[in-house]
Amino acid sequence: MREAGLDRVNISLDTVNPIMFSRITTCGRIEDTLLGIQSALDVGLTPLKLNVVLTESLCETDLQYFLEQVRRFPIAVRFIEYMPLGGTGIGNGPDIETVKGMLSTIVGAKKWRPIENVKGNGPAKYYQILPKARGTFGFITPISDHFCGECNRLRLTADGKLRPCLLSSKEIDVKTPLRNGASDRELALLFHEAVSEKPQGHSLCRASGYPDFKRKMSQIGG
Ligand code: SF4
Repeated sequence: MREAGLDRVNISLDTVNPIMFSRITTCGRIEDTLLGIQSALDVGLTPLKLNVVLTESLCETDLQYFLEQVRRFPIAVRFIEYMPLGGTGIGNGPDIETVKGMLSTIVGAKKWRPIENVKGNGPAKYYQILPKARGTFGFITPISDHFCGECNRLRLTADGKLRPCLLSSKEIDVKTPLRNGASDRELALLFHEAVSEKPQGHSLCRASGYPDFKRKMSQIGG
């Protein structure tokens, strides 16, 4: 993939507990993912981001592992608030402040420093550990402090649909026009339509309940 032009990668790793990892991913083997992380580092895919959703499985052993990675490698470990979409069978974990507190206890409160202007940081707020570690920790808060107003992401599903928002079922078919020989301008208009469909906010925290999801998060790439 590196030779084909890929230059960075995000990898989901919610826990290093093999049993919980297998449960969360429904079939994954943690050895494969850890090997994949090492391979990505070996071929220089940077920044390499590890996405850690805060599920019930997260514990101090996981935090010790992530801390070690951040000390040794140019990795951004990003803790992401659990989004209560239902249907996963995996429970909510600690909140962001609790995780910050746990990390601060492990590394020492004075060894934390917020950092600005991290390349490609997206919605994460980053911290560095002193003395200077090679990697960083990031915190992403789609629930407690949503960032829809700054969200610039579009997702392309494996079956060729452009999706303006993770939490909306709106999709725009780009595969069919592509197969039918659409011009660059026609395709650009579809992307423009997708951007204009991005919402101002989501409804996950509202009493009105959850949106109607036709696909699971893992089918969208969220
Ligand atoms: S809810 Fe949609 S618009 Fe808001 S941050 Fe998530 S993907 Fe972006």
